[in-house]
Amino acid sequence: MKISVIGAGYVGLSSSLCLAEMGHEVIQIDIDLQKVDAINSGRSPLVEPGFDDMFCRHSGHRLKATADYDSISSTEVCIICVNTPSSQKGEPDLSRIESACRSIGYNLRNSHGFHLLVVKSTVPPGTTQCLIRPTVLETCGDNPNIGFAVNPEFLREGQALKDFMNPDRIVIGCWDPKAADMLVKVYNGIKSPIIRTDPMTAEMIKYASNAFLATKISFSNEIGNICKILGLDVYEVMRGVGLDHRISPYALDAGIGFGGSCLPKDLRSLIYLAENLGENPRLLKSVEEVNNLQSDMIIKLLEKRIGDLKEKRIAILGIAFKGGTDEVRDSRAIPVIKELLRRNATIASYDPLALNNMKIFIGNIDQLEYCSSAAEALQDADACLVLADCPIFADLDGEFDLMRSKIIIEGRRILEFSEKEGIYW
Ligand code: NAD
Repeated sequence: MKISVIGAGYVGLSSSLCLAEMGHEVIQIDIDLQKVDAINSGRSPLVEPGFDDMFCRHSGHRLKATADYDSISSTEVCIICVNTPSSQKGEPDLSRIESACRSIGYNLRNSHGFHLLVVKSTVPPGTTQCLIRPTVLETCGDNPNIGFAVNPEFLREGQALKDFMNPDRIVIGCWDPKAADMLVKVYNGIKSPIIRTDPMTAEMIKYASNAFLATKISFSNEIGNICKILGLDVYEVMRGVGLDHRISPYALDAGIGFGGSCLPKDLRSLIYLAENLGENPRLLKSVEEVNNLQSDMIIKLLEKRIGDLKEKRIAILGIAFKGGTDEVRDSRAIPVIKELLRRNATIASYDPLALNNMKIFIGNIDQLEYCSSAAEALQDADACLVLADCPIFADLDGEFDLMRSKIIIEGRRILEFSEKEGIYW
C-alpha cells in the first residue's frame, strides 16, 4: 500500500521503517527540515536500536521524506504521529495535530479514491470525534471519501522496532467497517490479536494502559520504600509478586520513578480529564504523587550518607529517562539535577546517548559539567548517583576508584559492582 506518515518522531519513524520493511511504500512528512534531510540521506535523526540498519535498507527506496503535504493525495492511508504534549496541569496541547489535520484536509479536497486517516498520536477520548474529523472535513470540503481510524501505539523507546513488529494487540477504533478492514490490511503479516472498537474507546484504551503501567511502577516504589526500612530487596520481593499471572512481571521495577515522553504526560492528562468531568481520580493522583516524591528520596539518602551537599561534587551517571535511549523528556534526572543545583552541589554528569539532548534541555550552567566518559564524571566525586540503567554501566568497576569517597547510590538497578546501595535495595 502507499502510506503517508505525519511526524518523524519515535513513533512516526518506527512506524515508517516497519511499514517499509513490511513492503509498503512510505512517505514520511515532517515540518522539521533537518529530520527530512537526514532521512533522505539515509541517516537516522533519532537514536534508537535498529534504526540505522533500517534506514540503509529503505531510505530512498520504499521510504522517502518531505516537508510537503501535497504528496498525501497520492497515498491511500495517512497515519498521524505528531507529538501531543500536555501542560504541567495536564491540559493537552492539540495544536500540532489540529495543524496537521488542516494540511491533510486541504490536500485531500480533490481526492476521489477512498483515503483512510489513522490517528496514532495519543489523544484524549473524544478528540477524533470532536476535533480531528471536523477539522479534516471542514478543510477538505466535506469530501465523503475519507475514513477515520484511531490506532494507538504502545511501543517503548529503546525497543521501538521490536515492539511495533510484535505488539501485544492492535487496537482499531472506527465508525465504519470499511475503514477498519483497510487498517487490518496495513498490518497484514503481523500476528497479534486485533481489537475492533469505536474511536473514543480506542483513545481511552491508550490512556488507561499508560495509567495502569504508571500505577504498577508507583506501587513497586511504595513497596520499595517499606522494603528499604525493613532491609529487604524490593527486586526480590517484586519477582515473587510478578510471577503471579494475574499481575505479570512487567513494569514492576522500583527506582526513581517513571519518566519519558509518555507515562507522566498521559497520566497528567487523564487526571485533568477526570477532574473536568467532575470526578476526583484519587488513585491516579496518588500514582503521580508517589512518582514525584522519588527524586526527593534519592537526595535524602545521599544527604544521609555525605551530609550537607553544598560544594560537594556529585557524579550523575545516566540522564536519559531510561538506558538505551537519548530521550530526556520528563526524565527523573531533571528534578534530581535541579535539587542538587539548588543545594549548591557541583554535578559531573555522563550519559552514553543523551548528553546532547540534555544540553539543549537544561543548557550551560556553571555548576553542571557534561562529561565525555563515566571515568571523567567519577573523578574526585564525593558521591555517585546512577539514574538510568544504561547497559554499559554494568561493566563499570575500577572507574569508581577515581572517586574521593565511594558513596554510590543506584536509582535504577544496573551496577554489577558490589560496593553500592540502591534507593530500595
Ligand atoms: P516526537 O516529539 O518524538 O515527534 C513528533 C514529530 O512530529 C516531530 O518530528 C515534529 O517535528 C513533528 N511534527 C509536529 N507537528 C507537525 C506537523 N504539523 N506536521 C508534520 N510534522 C509535525 O513524538 P513521539 O514521541 O513520536 O510521539 C508521537 C505521539 O505518539 C504522541 O502523541 C505520543 O504521546 C505518542 N506515543 C509516543 C510513544 C513514545 O514512546 N515516544 C509511544 C506511544 C505513543
